[in-house]
Amino acid sequence: MASQAVIRQFDLSSIVRDSVRSSSSYTPSHRDPARTRDLLRLDMNESPYGPSPKTKAAIESFDATNRYPDFNQWALRDAIGAYTGVAADQVYCGAGCDDVLNLLAHATLDPGDEIIISEPTFGVYRMQASLRGAKTIDVPLTEGFQLDADGILGAVTERTKYIIICTPNNPTGNDLKQTDIDRIVREAPCLVVIDEAYSEFSGTSYAHYVDKYPNVLVFRTMSKFAGLAGMRVGYALVPKAMVPHFENIIQPTHNVSAVSAEAAIASLNDLDYLTGVIEQIRSSRDELAANLREIPGVAPYPSATNFLLVKLPADDAGSIVAQLAERGILVRHFGDPGLGLGTCLRVTIGAPEENERFLRELADILEAV
Ligand code: PMP
Repeated sequence: MASQAVIRQFDLSSIVRDSVRSSSSYTPSHRDPARTRDLLRLDMNESPYGPSPKTKAAIESFDATNRYPDFNQWALRDAIGAYTGVAADQVYCGAGCDDVLNLLAHATLDPGDEIIISEPTFGVYRMQASLRGAKTIDVPLTEGFQLDADGILGAVTERTKYIIICTPNNPTGNDLKQTDIDRIVREAPCLVVIDEAYSEFSGTSYAHYVDKYPNVLVFRTMSKFAGLAGMRVGYALVPKAMVPHFENIIQPTHNVSAVSAEAAIASLNDLDYLTGVIEQIRSSRDELAANLREIPGVAPYPSATNFLLVKLPADDAGSIVAQLAERGILVRHFGDPGLGLGTCLRVTIGAPEENERFLRELADILEAV
């Protein structure tokens, strides 16, 4: 006869770290799983286009699923090195840019440490700090969504580990001024992280700063311009002095699957095609912005990315975003009053017919309002 197991009192949450228990997770816009097929997904700054032809061929012919990827991912790092002009051993990859940002937080943040961000910006930075019990100091962007360099440098304390600069910035869409970035990089006595997730759309990059300044790390992704969001490939370019520390903390295979690595390498070998995709998205963006400006009271902000932040003639854009969702169109609303974007929505640039559908439905909803 089986003996009766004794079930002890067990408080699982007492095992979880305080900072994990008290964190709230990142909330992307709500997606109803029952409706994912017919939804127009303009909420996550994804590319409307699939893989490049060479990438598609690489994925289709991939069959080495039984083998581990190269633990050091040299082929992928060589390809990224050639693309960015940074030595391959200063490239660290991850399952998306988020994963490599997490690696940096893991390497640097103790409870009570601080990071500096400039809201409104990408929400993941704050979450990753909070999970380590680190404090996020916000030095908000100025009226024109530019950095407050004096404020940022003045906010640095001896607990500050890094300042994060997102350029072009999400969700505002604009490039941040190089003069401010240069000043912060030169004067800050801490790391400066430059998140360039949308760099390929703006044509600006600070990748070479990792060899010019000892305190700069640049983070990038294959998710946006290469249409590989689902493959999860991002990377950090780090200064030489950071290499031994990242070596200690990097996961085997850099958390990149073999097929994802093949896909990313094939994309970097198909840049002529991807340049065409970027051009198409940029021209669709400018056309959508011009069309939005035709709707009374609607004002898109200037964008150097694959999305637009759009001011609506409404005190709270949330209800308009909800109405769009009811019509099957997902866009983002940033309702936190502290961000000052309550009257705006953020829309990802889709294929031309998708942008037209969004425009038509938005105009229709606003007319009724
Ligand atoms: N940084 C910024 C500014 C982003 O907008 C995003 C994606 N929304 C990321 C990083 C993360 O990209 P991924 O993890 O897909 O590489």
